[in-house]
Parts: sequence; C-alpha cells; structure tokens
Amino acid sequence: MAKLQNKNELIFRVAIALPVYRLFDYLAPEQLVPTPIKPGIRLEVPFGKAKKIAYLVECVQHSDMDIGKLKRVERMLDETPLLSTKDLALLHWAGGYYHHPLGEVFSAAFPVTLRQGKSAVIQTEKFYSLTESGKAIDSELLKRTPKQKSVLEKFQAHQSSLSEMELSAWNGSWRTSVKQLLDKQLLQLGTPEFGANSTPSASENFGNPIIRSNALQCNPQQQAAIDAVCGSLEQFGVFLLEGVTGSGKTEVYMQIIRSVLEKGQQVLVLLPEITLTPQLENRFRQRFTVSIAISHSKLTDRQRACSWLTMQRGECAILLGTRSALFTPLKNPGLIILDEEHDASFKQQEGFRFSARDVAVVRGKLLNIPVLLGSATPALETLHNVNNKRYRLLHLPERAGNAIAPVLQLLDIRNKKMQEGLSEALIADIQRTLAKNEQVLLFLNRRGFAPTLICHGCGWVARCRRCDANLVIHYDEGMLRCHHCGQEQRLVRQCPACKTGELTPLGLGTERVEKVLAELFADKTIVRLDRDSTQRKGSLENYLQQINQGAVDIILGTQMLAKGHHFPNVTLVAILDVDSGLFSIDFHAPEKMAQMIVQVSGRAGRAEKPGRVIMQTRQPEHPLLTTLISEGYSSFARTALAERKEASLPPFSYQALLRVQAADAQMPKLFLQAVVELAQHHNNGQTQILGPVAAPMARRAGLYRYQLLFQSSRRPELHALLDVLMPKIEKLKQAKKVRWSLDVDPVDLY
Ligand code: ADP
Ligand code: ZN
Ligand code: ZN
Repeated sequence: MAKLQNKNELIFRVAIALPVYRLFDYLAPEQLVPTPIKPGIRLEVPFGKAKKIAYLVECVQHSDMDIGKLKRVERMLDETPLLSTKDLALLHWAGGYYHHPLGEVFSAAFPVTLRQGKSAVIQTEKFYSLTESGKAIDSELLKRTPKQKSVLEKFQAHQSSLSEMELSAWNGSWRTSVKQLLDKQLLQLGTPEFGANSTPSASENFGNPIIRSNALQCNPQQQAAIDAVCGSLEQFGVFLLEGVTGSGKTEVYMQIIRSVLEKGQQVLVLLPEITLTPQLENRFRQRFTVSIAISHSKLTDRQRACSWLTMQRGECAILLGTRSALFTPLKNPGLIILDEEHDASFKQQEGFRFSARDVAVVRGKLLNIPVLLGSATPALETLHNVNNKRYRLLHLPERAGNAIAPVLQLLDIRNKKMQEGLSEALIADIQRTLAKNEQVLLFLNRRGFAPTLICHGCGWVARCRRCDANLVIHYDEGMLRCHHCGQEQRLVRQCPACKTGELTPLGLGTERVEKVLAELFADKTIVRLDRDSTQRKGSLENYLQQINQGAVDIILGTQMLAKGHHFPNVTLVAILDVDSGLFSIDFHAPEKMAQMIVQVSGRAGRAEKPGRVIMQTRQPEHPLLTTLISEGYSSFARTALAERKEASLPPFSYQALLRVQAADAQMPKLFLQAVVELAQHHNNGQTQILGPVAAPMARRAGLYRYQLLFQSSRRPELHALLDVLMPKIEKLKQAKKVRWSLDVDPVDLY
C-alpha cells in the first residue's frame, strides 16, 4: 500500500457509472475544498481521454494505487450532497443487494441532467390558463380542429392553469395546439393559481388549506385501513391494501395522504404505468391544493430534473411517478405508496435490475416512514410477507359505492365453430350487449395479425434470422416483424421455399380480430389498443378519451387494457384465449395469468351497471381457472403459494439468475462453466447451482444466450456466495468475450 507523501493530500474514492465493481481513487481537487467534504457530491474527473461524472463515496488517506499516478479531481459540482445520508445508505444497500456496480446505482438515482453534470438549479416552466372567453366558449365550436378542441377541453375540465410538464405528461403533441389557442386568445400565458401546480412554493407546509374538495364518506373497511396507517405515521411499517378493483383504494390513499400533508411531510406515489399518471393526477388535483410533481419517461429531462429538485428542496408535496422516481430525494419524507404493487413493471429488466417495491420497503425502513402497497391481486411474495406478519394486511372486500363485482364465467369452445377466435356464443353475447348501448371489451394478449406465417404447400415458416422465433404478420403495414429484436421485412406473397404453396396465417393477433369485428359489426365503432395502434404520441390518450365519452362500442386490446383504466360503460369483458397462458415453463406464469384475468375483469361494470366476464377456453376444468372463478384470487394465491412451498420455489427460496449472451455460440456456455467452477469452490453447500442451460429463447438478436440459476433456501448464504463470486467473475478471461448480467430475485426466467 502506497502512503501519501504529502500529509495534507486527500484522496477521493469515487463511483463512476461504468459496468465494473471497483471504485476509483483521485487526488482531491486543488481548489479550496469546503470542509467537511461529504460523500454523495458529484465531481468531474478525468477518465482516459475523456471526462466523467463521479460520485464521492469516501475521503481516504491512502490508496492501493501508486499515488504518483493518481489523477486529480477536476471540479466539484456540488458543495453539499443532493442526497441525504439515509438515501446514500439506500444506494449502498441496493448496490450490495443487487450486486450491481455502485456508479450505475448512483447514476440511477439522479435525473439525466444531473447525471450529465449540469448544475442543480430549477429551470422554471411556463404555465397556461384559460382566458375569460376560453372559459365561456363551447368546445364544440372547435370540432373542425380536434386537437385544439381536446386541449381546450383539457383546460376546461381542469379548471386551473397547467404547466408545460403537465401538458407533456398528458399529451406529447400539445405545443402547436396551445400556440393556436393562444393566438385565438382562448388561452393565456399565466401564473398558476392556488400555488396548486408544480411551481416552487416557499411555504414549508405546502400552504393551507390542503384540501380543495371534500373526501367521500368511507365505508367501515376503508375507515379501518385509513386508521391503521394514520395510527402509525412517522414510523416504519409495511401495509398491504388488498382490494378488488373499484373497492376504493384510491380514496383510502387520498385520506391517508391528507394526514401526512397536514404534518408538513411529503408523499411519494409510484405507479407501474405512465398512462395511469394523468388519471391519478387529476383525482389528486381535484382533492388537494398542494403542489404535485410528476416524473416518468415521457417528460423531458429538464422537467424530470425539475420534479426531482422540487421534491429534494421540499417545495413540492406529492410526487407521482413510475419506477425510476423511487430514488427521488425527499426533504421531509412521510409516506411511500406503491399502487398495483404486483405489476412486473416495478422490476427493472435491464442494467440495474432492482425491484422498486422491494427497494421502497427498504427505503421506508431507513427513513422510518410507512410504506403502503396496494393491489387487487397482490404478488405472492407480498402475501407471503403478510402471512409471516412482516406486512400488515388491510382488506377492502367489496366494491365501494353501488358498484357490483363482475361475474366470471368460462365458455367451453371445444368443438365449437369459431370465426377468427370468436365463438358463436360470444358473438351473440356481444350483439346483445351492444343492443343495450353498452360497451364491450375484448382482450387478446398478442398484437399483429397472426403470430405465424406458414406455407400450406411445403410447411415453410417465416422465421427471424436473428432469433429463435417466428416472424409476426402485420398486414396493415404489409410487414413481417420479429417481436424480440425488431427485425422486419416485407410480407412475402410467394413461398420462398417451394415457390408454389399458399402462404397461410396461423394463430390470432389483435389485428386479425379487429378485421373480423369490423365485418361482423360494420355499423359499430371499434378501437384497437395495442403497442402498434398507440405508437404515436398522444394516441392512447385520445382513444381513452373517446372511450370515456361513449364514442366507442367495442374496445379490443392487449395487456395495455389490464392496467387500471376506468371504462365505466363496459359491461361485457371477454378474454379470447386464456389457454395460451396456461402452459408456460416459467413457474411465475400461473400467478401472472391469474393477475391478468382478475385485472382485465376489473374493467367491467365499474359504475352502476353490473359487468360480466367471459373466458373462452378449451380447458374448462383447469384448476387455475376453476379456483379463480369459484373462489377468487385469494384462494388461488393460497393454492399457488402452497405449490411453491412444496417445490421450494420463491418466496420459499431465493434466486439469482446469471444471464449471458454472445455472438459466438460456444462462449456463453464456456463462460458459465468457468463460473460454475468458481462457484463450487466458494459454495458452502447452501446454494444450488443449476445450469448452465440454454435460455428458453436460445438465440435472440443474433446473440446466443445461456443462463445459470443460483437458488438457496437461505438468503444470507446466497448473497454471501454472490459477494465473493461477482468480483471474481468480472476477472474471468471469458468475461471480456460475453455480455453478462445478474438478476437478483428474477421475475421471469427468460
Ligand atoms: P380503486 O382505486 O380500488 O379501483 P377507487 O378509489 O377508484 O377504487 O374507487 C372506485 C369508485 O368508487 C370511484 O368512483 C370512487 O369515487 C368511488 N368510491 C370510493 N370510495 C367510496 C365511498 N366510500 N363511497 C362512495 N363511493 C366511493
Ligand atoms: Zn412452400
Ligand atoms: Zn428477431
């Protein structure tokens, strides 16, 4: 170890966003350094020929490197750290738990502009509001310019001013219309009213009064849930609010949030989906007068930095965001809420693969505040934690108000005549529903026209050249497309193999069902919601608006429909193909399937009209389906947990999956064999090392894929093994020739 020559010289040990485990040492900057120097500040350091942003981890007196060769920190970007000591501790914990390089973990906690080294100042935003004539005008007068009409209606419904950030969150293409409405003097550039928007307000307790509109009169179960959480504010505790869709969870959140705000504390609310933020945001704004910030990937970097900084300074009371908002610093934290906690979107699936739910719980513990998880279909892990008395269960068994729970039924389609996936019984049912002027929702979790193109003459199948997968037919665009790597080619008319055979689409996609619906119900309005039809910015929002205005008769879509949207006039929901979800090799599949069914069902009959859910199946006796229908999700979950226990699968054991891919077909396996050797050497027998095996999709985007599963009935043992293993894996000679990543607590094994 080289000692410092100059006694006064300090060494900064820093983390840099790079896929390596080590930290880097630099000499402290020459400029006068404020004392004491606190970990967490951002620095600019020379790195190779470039400069990089680094995060100070600690100041030390010695280095394992040759001091003479250490470079010097060029600039300190912050005088004091933007993150609190507790949040820094959270990042260290997360880096350790997920075995992920600390620099990348730090980087994930900061918004992009700060990651790039920009200074931590808030760029102010423009606000727009209605003029007097804008308030008075009938929006129908703008019906020839639908975009302007919809912007105007947004303002009229909202009743106060909207910021650039809020408009972008609502609809990405608002700028032109707003400009035109400014020209027409229906809108004006203005300051926000009530201090209600995301402008910084200086007051510490976010202004008074907090409530704009009155709360609903709660039913006893709602009240019990509110009392339970409000009775233990300002201390750590995890609560699971389990309530069917429409049971009034959001009302419970809002009443708890009110109590937290009254203490002058901030609330972090995480949602799985961007598209759900406007809905919740509207409800919050109708209730609360405080500043609300939002954060998700549709906002610009500047806007996200603004949300981050206003929360950090305590100038904003509520942050609504998706997974990445989890690390936003809170000056005065009071509560973390995760809505739809079971949703897989809370798990980051690349890079730093953290679970926002699990990290939120750890954050709540460090901050000593309650964490509230909400779902109609809680994750099995969460229910396990309830059973273990680690989390407290708050149950809302009924729908709130007058809404009635939907009736689920199976429709046996064995040997039945089908038209592009629709049985005659279902078609008749759709007809009856439409005749009553009610809406129908059809769910099929596969986009495109058909998943396979096959030659009737010779059996040739259109395959992706880069993946072990078939190309999906997209008739509308005349394309064949791979849903795994994005590779596409023109739809061929002639079989490339035999040149004579007839090419036939095999299987069902939403596009195909849409075509048959258009023939069967020619006078009805049909909307298809999937990733293809909603690619354009703002189009999903437009469709949702049309649906809610009753301008749509049939809604057809993929899992996009399963998430939290309200369709009050839908009374019939049909799941066209439940069978395809019943036979996956991944042990998580039944859980996801059950959640999906219940979530889709929850879209039906949310208002006064009762809803029905029909599932077409060729497996009417399948236990998953029958349990779910006759006994509900809780029963299903109990059975599923018992099965997991029997098989020693999570949450009764702990897993980490090492995924590897490379252009070379042999290298991933060779690399993993070397890992196995290392692992066996360090394993004390408490961890099973399963593999290496080819990934379920063995080739993807031209890369060959292998994986190795670590599983242990004891978490500490698993992590102890990974602790020694990961830095050694990094140094394996094969490691340079492959891409590898570790997934702790994987939510799928693909
Ligand atoms: P969830 O979030 O569980 O889906 P919501 O909070 O959105 O449920 O409530 C569903 C509907 O029931 C909403 O329209 C809401 O206004 C209404 N609601 C909630 N609680 C009550 C209540 N106590 N009395 C009457 N209506 C209620
Ligand atoms: Zn052929
Ligand atoms: Zn492909």
